[in-house]
Parts: sequence; structure tokens; C-alpha cells
Amino acid sequence: MIWPGKEKSKEEKEKETSPLPAKNFSTGPEDLLAYGFDSSGRTGRPSAVAWPQSADEVAKVLKHARENGMKVVPRGAGTGMSGGAVPVASQAGISSSLLVLSMERMNRLLDIDSGNLTVTVEPGMINGRLQRELSVYGLFYPPDPTSMEFCTLGGNVAENAGGPRALKYGVTADYILELEAVLPSGEIIKTGAGTRKSVVGYNLAKLLTGSEGTLAVITKIKLKVLPIPQEIITLLAVFDSAESAGHAVSSIIAGGTIPRTLEIMDRASISAVERYSPTGLPHNAGALLLIELDGHPNTIRDEAGKIVDVCSKLDAEVTMAEDEFAKDALWKARRSLSPALYNVCPRKLSEDIVVPPSRIPEMLASISNISGKHGVPMAAFGHAGDGNLHVNILPEDLSQGASNITALLTDLFARTLELGGSISGEHGIGLTKKDYIGMEISPAVMELMRGIKRTFDPEGLLNPGKIFPKEP
Ligand SMILES: Cc1cc2nc3c(=O)[nH]c(=O)nc-3n(C[C@H](O)[C@H](O)[C@H](O)COP(=O)(O)OP(=O)(O)OC[C@H]3O[C@@H](n4cnc5c(N)ncnc54)[C@H](O)[C@@H]3O)c2cc1C
Repeated sequence: MIWPGKEKSKEEKEKETSPLPAKNFSTGPEDLLAYGFDSSGRTGRPSAVAWPQSADEVAKVLKHARENGMKVVPRGAGTGMSGGAVPVASQAGISSSLLVLSMERMNRLLDIDSGNLTVTVEPGMINGRLQRELSVYGLFYPPDPTSMEFCTLGGNVAENAGGPRALKYGVTADYILELEAVLPSGEIIKTGAGTRKSVVGYNLAKLLTGSEGTLAVITKIKLKVLPIPQEIITLLAVFDSAESAGHAVSSIIAGGTIPRTLEIMDRASISAVERYSPTGLPHNAGALLLIELDGHPNTIRDEAGKIVDVCSKLDAEVTMAEDEFAKDALWKARRSLSPALYNVCPRKLSEDIVVPPSRIPEMLASISNISGKHGVPMAAFGHAGDGNLHVNILPEDLSQGASNITALLTDLFARTLELGGSISGEHGIGLTKKDYIGMEISPAVMELMRGIKRTFDPEGLLNPGKIFPKEP
């Protein structure tokens, strides 16, 4: 007689099939649910979640996935707005199961080299935590996505994130010195150099920056940092209309003053913030600009004077934040915009177009026209100084269905491109914009990009269904 074997516990089964210790690997339904979405509103369902704690463990997970016919979706904190971290099989046209590779437990600060103004981190470190650690040394890391209190530096690299300070200081790619990454084959590579300059072959570190988890898994990041500026002045300029605010943006930039931030909020954005978390913004204003200058006190006072002149000529009322409390209140209002608009419209879509700053007034007028044409309310806010507007589409009910939204987005992107712009300034293509990428990128360039993907990832192991539209 054969005795039936004892039923194996969940932990025992996981141990047999897991590439990592049980605490770092899960097939539990609550984890599969929690790791199935990001901030784009898109959802999917993985078959497993892994939390590696070293590059070797990342390599083990990739090997396990390959051997078990699974595909791998790298993930930071899931704050992405284009669906890059969402595990989708059907939209990717595949039948394989998906494993989410969460980098959040690889979150150590490895080194601050204040002599050479560099810092080395693991990818799961939160951007805002790095800012606080650096401030103790009188340093800062300029890229400051508005989500900086909850997004990871690995996610920032993978999306080439920007933020309000990008106007003066540039985006993530401008600060990358060296990356460690695990290739889909499991090989661990180092690319770039620890020095401030290096021209040795193709710049693969920059190529991985903005690759949205489709080429390799980033496991270590060496970044440039800067000394904290001597003084910061924060101005609030209140305008009667979005168009006047737009003219102020292009005049400030054309006048040769580069503030560290030049953020715009239109009327719909202001009223959403005041409904969500009142901070005393002027809710009857047509638009406002939040402007910051940093540097030597004398220089920035001169620059602030020039900006006040430009805004006053456009009938704006300009005030200066008098203390840290007043500055924080303004930034709190700016940072709460995304949740405030979700509060107004849980179905909202957030677009991320960018145009040359001189075309901002025309773009703002076009947004208003497109909203009227399709009968769908829209709000615009964002990093106007570098031309990057977060256009939020706020369908009032389900009758404003998918085909209308597709037509609206096509009009929005077409107008952006007509004005010399680009359909994504910082959120990337991911899932949400892959059907529109062909509006901007020619077939020849697309084929080069597909060739790069094939070179890094011949089996299509990493992040299937992202960036590229379905091949004809
Ligand atoms: C309220 C709000 C405000 C925002 N403001 C800004 C802003 O001002 N500027 C801006 O640029 N973005 C902004 N974003 C978007 C988002 O925060 C950024 O894109 C951020 O860089 C994503 O980081 P994450 O850790 O959440 O990455 P995730 O969303 O988890 O992943 C994003 C992409 O990166 C890939 N990825 C993540 N980690 C790795 C890794 N280690 N190796 C390889 N691939 C990886 C994923 O596969 C995915 O494709 C905002 C989002 C929200 C919700």
C-alpha cells in the first residue's frame, strides 16, 4: 500500500519553485493584485512577484523566468504614468505568464563622494530620501519629479524623469555617470564611467536611460550631484487668462533669464487643488505661474526684478513667498495637482506633451479649442518653462467614450507635433502612448529601435508589450 504524501504547504511549494528565499518571492493573490497596476490607471495580473536584493539575485530571477517560459516586468514604485510597470500579456500579444521584478528592496545609499560630487545608489532608493541625505552634505540632486517622495531612482533612470527644476538643470540623463545592469541573458554589465567625462565607444548608459525596462534591469546607479545654491527666491504670478501666462513664459525665456522652475497651473487646475486641499490659491484666477530662481543673492534679485516687469506688463499680480512656510505651501499645492484632478475625475487621463517654450501660448489656445471641439473638459499644468505641459483629460461620463478620447488624443498630439513638439516630455511611451508613437517616429527610426531591442533581448524576455506598437 502506498501512503498518500502529506499535502505541501504554500511555503514549501514556493520554496520548490522560487529562485529566491521565500520572503522575497510570492505568488500570493494579495501580492498579485498589489503589483498589477501603476499610476496610469492601466491594470494587469502577474503570476509571481520577486523582490531581489542584489544583482546576482536579479540574474537568478531572469534565469528562472526564462526556464519557466515567463516574461519579466521590472518595477520601481509604480508611480509611472504610462503603464510601463503594468504586467500585461494580452495587450503584448503573448500567452506567457508574467513575473513582476520589484526593485524596491534594493534601496541602499552606497556612497556619497562629496569631494568628487557624485553619489552611488541602488535603484530602489526613493528620490526624496536621496535629497534629504545629500542636504546634510550641502549637496542636492537636481532631477525632482513631482512624485519625488514616492518614486525610485531606478524608475527615474528607466523613464529619464524630469521635474520642475529640469528647466535650469536638465533631466535624469544629464546626471548619469555609470550604471550597473543585468542583461536579459543574466550577464551583469557596467556601462558609462565613474568620471565626469568619458568617450569610450557607444554611450550605453545613456541608451539604458529612458529604455523603460525593455533592455536591461538597472541594479546600481552613479550620479553627479551639485552644491545647494546660496539662495532661492519663490514668486507667484497670477494672471487673468492662461494665454497671458503663456506669453509671460515665452517672454521670460526669450529675455534670457532661466529660472530654476517655471510652473503653470490653469484655472481648472487651481480650482481642483482648492477643492481637494485648500491652500489659499486665488481660485478666480485664469492661470498662475510658480517661479523659482536660485544662485547668488544679488544675481537672483536682479533676475526676479526682470520677471516681475515681464509679468506686470501682462497685468499679472506678482508676490514673493516671504519664508520657508509660504514656499512650502505653494509647492504643496503644486504637488497635490495630480491627486486633486483624480478627485475631480477618477477616469482622468494624464498626457505629457512638450513644445518649444515660444509656442506655449499657441499650445494653450489649442488645448482649449480641442477641449471645446470634443466636448471633454481638460486641465493643463506643468513645467511650462521647458515647454512640458501635463494635459489632463477629464471625461465627465462614460458617454465620452473611447473613440472620442482617441480622436481627442490624436488631435492633441498632431497639434503638438505641428508646433515642433514631442508627444512625451517625461512620462515615456509604455502602454498608453504606444499606439501614437508612429505619429512622431518614422518607420526607419522605429526599425532601428526594434533592432536595439532585439540585440539586448533576442527572446523578448523583458517588459513585453511596451513602447512598440504591434508589428504589422
Ligand atoms: C503625482 C505624480 C507626479 C509625477 N511627476 C513627475 C514629474 O514631475 N516628472 C516625471 O518625469 N515624472 C513624474 N511622474 C511619473 C513617475 O513618477 C516617474 O516616471 C518615475 O520615474 C517612475 O518611477 P517609479 O519608481 O515609480 O517607476 P515605475 O512606475 O515602477 O516604473 C517605470 C518604468 O521603469 C521601469 N523600471 C523601474 N525600475 C527599473 C529598473 N531598476 N531597471 C529597469 N527598469 C526599471 C519599469 O519597467 C517601467 O517601465 C509623476 C507621477 C505621479 C503619480
